[in-house]
Amino acid sequence: MALINFREGHPVLWRSRSNFFSCFLILTTILVLSKQACAQDSPSGWAEKFDLVLQHTRPLEHARGNRLPLYLWPAIDPGPLKDEEAEVLVRELNDRGIALFGAWKKNDRESSLNQALTVALAQQKLNLRVNINAISHLYSFYNGDKATAHIDDNGNRFFDDSFGRKQDMGCPFAIDFRKKQIREELEYFLDRYRSEGLEVDFIFADWEVDGPLEVNSAFASSKKCVRCRKHLEKDFDFETFQKTMRDMRSYLQHYAFSQPVLERFPNALVGNYGVYPHDGFRYWYDYFEQFQEPHPYVTDQRAKYRKWYQDFPATGFTYAMPVAYTWGRIFHWYDFEPTDYRWFYNMLKVASNAGMSTPHQVPVITWVHWNTIHFPNEPDPEIVQFSKENYQELLWHMLFRGTDTFAMWCMESEYAQEVSLVQEVYAQAQQYGDFLDHGVPITFELPKEPGVVISGLMYKDRILVRRTDFGKDRQPVTVLAGTTTIEVPSKVGNQVIHLNE
Ligand SMILES: [Zn+2]
Repeated sequence: MALINFREGHPVLWRSRSNFFSCFLILTTILVLSKQACAQDSPSGWAEKFDLVLQHTRPLEHARGNRLPLYLWPAIDPGPLKDEEAEVLVRELNDRGIALFGAWKKNDRESSLNQALTVALAQQKLNLRVNINAISHLYSFYNGDKATAHIDDNGNRFFDDSFGRKQDMGCPFAIDFRKKQIREELEYFLDRYRSEGLEVDFIFADWEVDGPLEVNSAFASSKKCVRCRKHLEKDFDFETFQKTMRDMRSYLQHYAFSQPVLERFPNALVGNYGVYPHDGFRYWYDYFEQFQEPHPYVTDQRAKYRKWYQDFPATGFTYAMPVAYTWGRIFHWYDFEPTDYRWFYNMLKVASNAGMSTPHQVPVITWVHWNTIHFPNEPDPEIVQFSKENYQELLWHMLFRGTDTFAMWCMESEYAQEVSLVQEVYAQAQQYGDFLDHGVPITFELPKEPGVVISGLMYKDRILVRRTDFGKDRQPVTVLAGTTTIEVPSKVGNQVIHLNE
């Protein structure tokens, strides 16, 4: 694989040398050197996972233009690279529409910065966006310090253990002293980029189990805490609690993350996993979340969709990041047959919610994942895995409902499959670049029973439509598009419908 990469990176070598043997000798030498280097990692210098990404994806046939690239979990942190290697890798990935991420690690400051800077310099040289994974930076406001614990009526300090044992979830009113430290650690990295003349174009965090939260036993814990009761008033109800926790959470994300980034790089795309505009409800549960009374909710078969606070605006984030994963519990929420519709319905509901609630000028970058996530239980034999075909259908519908691009997370053992599935759709979609860049979704409707699902993007007088049939009915259906209605026949794949004809 590495040899192929090298060759593709240096096509001139092949075309200009007439002497076959000199070519042969050069390549043999490269092969031997590469094999020696192989002992430590990929022969190419970059982490082996990148070879998998390159193997299981194909170069785009249609230019990407300004469209946002694909953000893939295995395309983060290539390790220490030489300048030339970084350029080859950035170019190879970009040919496939994939962004390379430098990873900032605050506990490994100089080494991680130097590695990320090499990637950023290559990206700047090639006139591509500089992408940063800043996950380590927001952890942890609850740093285990006893001062961050709740305090009960007897003066005893306690943590909330309903979030798993890894994190000492404490008192949200006792962590203000952490925000400055966390911001300063991030500023060190940001300033280094600025002093090197580099931009930060895209930066993301995955700040979940930390800081003020209203889920699990957080409400009950705060009720037992004298400090929380003092700040929230004696008989605070759940909705007051949720609003307060989310306001505080947004404030911290702004103070310690989006503000320091945007002060230095005003055009940066900055956001966090799971934070996005919505319709007042959350249709999914994160891996560490369990439903608990008295969280208000609405039901849909056995699903309990929780009332959610509008926390996006106060974060200052410049893109939305919904999460549409195959969480195992989704399978048992609905009775739909074919069972694929259980996954499809829920995940498209999540993406549609973000798509319809986010202003056009704010990108929606949707986290996706295909293999069933069984966490925290052992694999559940009753669950029928979502089919690849309908997962890809889902991705198409997301793109036609406001998702601008995908971020894909998966386990290491899933890299090849997951990367290939999402990149295939991303690459094919590029032939409709105009629609993706300028089109607006025509509908966010989703049938409550397996049936006809239609999504579309309207641009000028054309509508790019996708229709997927989960029921038996194959009759044409009528949908509203702008100020008129269009008839959509049953057809596999995409259709372009012209208005005024
Ligand atoms: Zn407290």
